[in-house]
Amino acid sequence: MALLGGGNSAGQAAVFLASHARHVRMLVRGSGLSSTMSRYLIDRIAASPNIELLSDTEVVELLGTTDQGLRGVRWRNRRTGAEEQHAIAHLFLFTGADPAAGWLTGCGIPLDEKGFIRTGADVPPAERVPLPLETGIEGIFAAGDVRCGSVKRVGAAIGEGAAVVAQLQYRVAQYFYMLGMVAEPVIYLVVWSTIAEQNGGAVNGITAGQFAAYYIVWTLVRNMNIVFGAPFWEWRIREGRLAGDLLRPLNILHYDLAYFAGWKFVVVALWIPIALGLSAVFHPDLHPSALQIVVFIVAIWGAYFVRTMFQATIGMLNFWTTRGAAVFDLYMAIEMLLSGRLVPLKLMPGWVQTLADFLPFKWTFGSPIESLVSDMSTRSLLLGLGAQVMWTAIGYVLFTFAWRAAIKRFSAVGA
Ligand SMILES: Cc1cc2nc3c(=O)[nH]c(=O)nc-3n(C[C@H](O)[C@H](O)[C@H](O)COP(=O)(O)OP(=O)(O)OC[C@H]3O[C@@H](n4cnc5c(N)ncnc54)[C@H](O)[C@@H]3O)c2cc1C
Repeated sequence: MALLGGGNSAGQAAVFLASHARHVRMLVRGSGLSSTMSRYLIDRIAASPNIELLSDTEVVELLGTTDQGLRGVRWRNRRTGAEEQHAIAHLFLFTGADPAAGWLTGCGIPLDEKGFIRTGADVPPAERVPLPLETGIEGIFAAGDVRCGSVKRVGAAIGEGAAVVAQLQYRVAQYFYMLGMVAEPVIYLVVWSTIAEQNGGAVNGITAGQFAAYYIVWTLVRNMNIVFGAPFWEWRIREGRLAGDLLRPLNILHYDLAYFAGWKFVVVALWIPIALGLSAVFHPDLHPSALQIVVFIVAIWGAYFVRTMFQATIGMLNFWTTRGAAVFDLYMAIEMLLSGRLVPLKLMPGWVQTLADFLPFKWTFGSPIESLVSDMSTRSLLLGLGAQVMWTAIGYVLFTFAWRAAIKRFSAVGA
């Protein structure tokens, strides 16, 4: 009996076979095992008297017929050139893996020169940089031995499989997040469209088509005005992340703003098909002028800034209390009513509309939406932007004062 190869697999097989066979010959091309095999296996082979290690040896001929099977093996010493032939009926090959990935050729999934699947940084440069275990085709991943550069171990294959699941879940989570975001306005839209239809086509002059326009634009404004909110401040402090964040050269408000702003581009890309789908179902009455579109694009960022400033200010409460969430919930309830999130403010009593004019909430929801969907004068459009600038400035001043007081209370182990 003989086996071919000097890796760990060959070593394990040799030790296993030695407990069943009288004599096991181990044919190794290299000059020893130390560079290719784990120490514990080398020691076990050395301790097995019936394993004969033949280094610097390569097989040159197999003897036998298809009917008879293997009858003998001839090998050569690579250093001396001397050849030997022995009657051997069983030869085990451990000369390396041959990936069964040839069938992928031609599907656009790049393989390396040995036929293993390239992933992550091993994929030839293209416009898109794949995730670490992603192949050259978006959404197709490879894990385990078949992946180029994998360490060919059970633990690694399992770990890579688990990592792929996490990367897939990230994508699915984004879509579920968007579906969740759509559920709220669709409920409002169905309710108000039904009331409008039962009321002879309109509620307070707002038609079903105008409700559709309002709530479809709502979905975009809502995604744009999601910010690093007060609950995140609680998480940041509780999880001990603030100490690290404080090491940054700029105030962390800048990083929060930039981080969430970058995410908006993903959100807008996901929003477009959702808006098209909702439009096909609800037929929005939407005819904005060029000026309205420009004002809207600025206003959704204004909404983002206003909300960031006020949410960050409320977030400062977490430096004093672990019950900051209660104040945050109150803020959200007021925002729901006075911002145009729950219903267009035009449907609210006159005094509520007046109150809303003097508070920040409306400029983060209703005002940007109306700037696109309603027939507004240039003056009203510009006043809306002016109000956003004013509330951003007020919010920034409030945050700055609160931050200075709050950070003095902060202490962290090791900070
Ligand atoms: C002799 C030997 C000993 C080893 N000892 C150890 C050890 O002690 N410790 C350790 O950590 N690792 C060891 N390994 C390595 C370990 O077995 C592998 O790293 C691990 O099995 C890789 O898992 P995997 O799921 O990536 O691939 P595999 O376990 O090879 O599974 C791939 C599966 O895909 C199937 N398949 C292939 N093509 C297709 C297709 N087109 N369609 C559907 N199915 C397909 C195959 O039939 C196979 O079932 C050893 C390997 C060998 C050969």
